[in-house]
Amino acid sequence: MENKLKVKALIRKSVLGVNPYLPGKPIEETKRQLGLKEVIKLASNENPWGPSPKAISAIKRSLSGINRYPDAQGFYLKKRLAKFFGLIPGNFVLGNGSDELIDIVIKTFMEADENIVTSEGTFLEYEIIAQVNDRKVKKAPLCYFKYDLGAMLKLVDKKTKLVFIANPNNPTGTYVSKNEVAQFINALPEGVVVVFDEAYDTFIDVDDYPDSLSYLKNKKKIIILRTFSKAYGLAGLRLGYAIAAPQLVTYLERIRQPFNVNLLAQVAGLAALEDKVFLSKTRRLTLEGKDFMYQELSRMGLRYVPSVTNFILIDVGRNSQEIFKACLKFGVIIREMRQYGLTNFIRVTIGTQKENKKFLSVLSKIIKESN
Ligand SMILES: *Cc1c(COP(=O)(O)O)cnc(C)c1O
Repeated sequence: MENKLKVKALIRKSVLGVNPYLPGKPIEETKRQLGLKEVIKLASNENPWGPSPKAISAIKRSLSGINRYPDAQGFYLKKRLAKFFGLIPGNFVLGNGSDELIDIVIKTFMEADENIVTSEGTFLEYEIIAQVNDRKVKKAPLCYFKYDLGAMLKLVDKKTKLVFIANPNNPTGTYVSKNEVAQFINALPEGVVVVFDEAYDTFIDVDDYPDSLSYLKNKKKIIILRTFSKAYGLAGLRLGYAIAAPQLVTYLERIRQPFNVNLLAQVAGLAALEDKVFLSKTRRLTLEGKDFMYQELSRMGLRYVPSVTNFILIDVGRNSQEIFKACLKFGVIIREMRQYGLTNFIRVTIGTQKENKKFLSVLSKIIKESN
């Protein structure tokens, strides 16, 4: 290989510095690589009970129309969302997953010398997308696996434009309470926009979870991100949305590409919103599965962080990469947490009861053998 293509000098400096996102390993690839017939994935917090049957029917009905571009305005979906929240269509921006909305938000608001404040041990996309856009991120340490809003407030300076709060947080499964958020918002300087990333809001079963919509109604400068990728079971279609004041939405829409949300995602999202039966089944089975996991983990003597989401952060007391690899050999895909600075932890999604049992028996075997 003498004529190796040299490209580094061509690449933008901030791109050279990016630590790429490591997604959960896909099922098919794992089967192929390890020659396994059965593989379960508890690595990406997807819905293990599939997409909603109503979404599947809606997609089938729309298939013959995919020679056409999707509706660039997402008219019906925004109208349905508006009804769902008691808002207007002008409060919504649709995204190719909420990941895309993070990018749109950063591009809309941030000047070159401004910074983002968020937490350590949180969703990595905030920092990765900021890096790609050449924007600076300041991170406060977690406090007992929770966002420390007080510490974050201290990081806010004259150049802070955005604050990202994953609530609940991924990968810890913890949340910041109504009071904590109220104090934080009140103390924040005028020129800062707060983004609440609420990818797991449907799984919440506590009373003091903040009502972020109330801040919107009270004319605070906030943006709420929601997704169809988790409880709604549409991760593969890529659909998320931002809720914000219409004045902000106008500018966010300038950055959004016209056909970012595909036609099937739009009809499936609409149908999934209507499918209350599927959503409440997902919620109930997730909470039951989580209780079962808690019990069994405690029986095995493992510590975990109590979670208000559909996943659990588990302290395996040793290098989690080893545990990840060992689980993989048995056809169980989980997430090791080194990239998040949580070396001795794994993150495991609540699956079907069969999947939960399989994971627990594999983990128990691995831990016994390594003791
Ligand atoms: C899964 C997740 C998202 C959602 O991503 P999509 O791009 O909508 O699939 C956003 N934020 C957090 C914290 C998540 O865990």
